[in-house]
Amino acid sequence: MILLLVFAVIIPLSAQQKPDCTVRVTLLQVNDVYQFAPVDLGTRGGLARVLTLKKEIEKQSPNTLFLLSGDTISPSVESITYKGAQMIDAWNTAGLDYSTLGNHEFDFGPDVLRQRMKESKFKWIAANVIDKKTGQPFGDALAYVVREFDGVKVGIFGLTLEETRTSSRPGPDVEFLNPCETARKMVSEIHARGVKTVVALTHLSMSEDKEVARCSGVDVIIGGHEHTLLESASGGAPIFKMTADARELGQIDLNISKSTGKVESIDWKVIPVTDKIKADPQFAAINRKYGALLKELSQLVGRTAIDLDARSAINRTQETNIGDFIADSFRLATGSDVGLMNGGSIRADEIIRTGPLTKRDVLSMLPFKNKVVKVELSGATLRQVLEHGVARSAEDAEPGRFPQVSGVKFTFDATRPPGSRIVSLTVNGKPLDEKKNYTLAASDYVAIDGGDGYAMLKETRLLIPRERAQFDSEVLQAAIIAKKVIAPKVEGRIRRLDKDQKQKTDCN
Ligand SMILES: [Zn+2]
Repeated sequence: MILLLVFAVIIPLSAQQKPDCTVRVTLLQVNDVYQFAPVDLGTRGGLARVLTLKKEIEKQSPNTLFLLSGDTISPSVESITYKGAQMIDAWNTAGLDYSTLGNHEFDFGPDVLRQRMKESKFKWIAANVIDKKTGQPFGDALAYVVREFDGVKVGIFGLTLEETRTSSRPGPDVEFLNPCETARKMVSEIHARGVKTVVALTHLSMSEDKEVARCSGVDVIIGGHEHTLLESASGGAPIFKMTADARELGQIDLNISKSTGKVESIDWKVIPVTDKIKADPQFAAINRKYGALLKELSQLVGRTAIDLDARSAINRTQETNIGDFIADSFRLATGSDVGLMNGGSIRADEIIRTGPLTKRDVLSMLPFKNKVVKVELSGATLRQVLEHGVARSAEDAEPGRFPQVSGVKFTFDATRPPGSRIVSLTVNGKPLDEKKNYTLAASDYVAIDGGDGYAMLKETRLLIPRERAQFDSEVLQAAIIAKKVIAPKVEGRIRRLDKDQKQKTDCN
């Protein structure tokens, strides 16, 4: 008893003699950054502003590491042209120290990612993304790094979503190991090197992050992927996620004991990145290099008075307001009876909110630069086209062939055999005449190449060939400009009968 009391006195005394007994290591966090320029019409984000903040923070806290929790190479309109090289340029300028791999890093395949990693002045860390041929972390990545500041050491390892295997294009030679098992192994390896402070830089779902926190003994998790501002804790470890596109910069200060090397306490704040923050002039070179494209993409095209549903899953399964609008624009631009847009070619995969529409919005929805051609076909073939469009509606979760239409109205029953699913069909208000000829506008991908299985369109007579056709994004843009404000509504052009019935029974 007495001995313990003595100890209790001695410890504070020694602390008094040496007040500077902790070392502050600052982690600066961003995640899911697809654009280096400001977003939200210039009001938020922008890596030039983040660099200004970083330099200010480094003056107060010299032991600073700048971390990215993955997802940057794709998707973006810029990446259609540059395949993520523009982001690597920007991160090199911003002074990024480490990034983990996000699922979207593999969108252009493993070879493009390897190239991007070679261009990076920062290090990629990925403990659970393994090249099957070498048994080592993918590309130039390291499983973990150890950094020393003022006598204290910090270990950082990286983790990536296992589902990247199927949600992106890593190819057959990349393996994704279980995050929790990998984390346990990493923490014990790092501890074995005498490093007591361990950071996980992750691109996982929050439930997986919580599991990693509970199962591995990490001190803090710097995460991403949700695009939602999240501050949680699990197993005693805090977990941080910013939203996306550097709208915020996370500042996480680890106060590490000099004597034990362990984290004594953590302070943090979420710093909004706004237009009040000056852009660092070092970014001028990046802006010069990519400025022309950025300026073009930020051009205002018009406004939408309604949310536009450009979600992939919805455009591949049912009529959408933007599907209607695109098919209308194809039909009107070419003077056709019918407009058709395969749902799989409508991208963006998000709801574009009410407000201004820029060229970037248009290209994010139609990124492929297909041409809008016009063909002549019989009523019988038109029926075949639409039958093909719904032939996988019961079989596939998201059939890319699903038709968004203009000028036609039809009902279908997906419980019937493919090829005989259309129950009723009218063209511009009149029942389809199988013997009559109609004109149809569609992309060259569908109408000339027979893409998404539309082989029957290859046999039709071409009225507007590729050489004289406009790009799909130009057609859409012109339609928005002509209207100034758009407000497309789902009109009931396509009705799925079996689903209606199912919903009825669900309600009963
Ligand atoms: Zn992600």
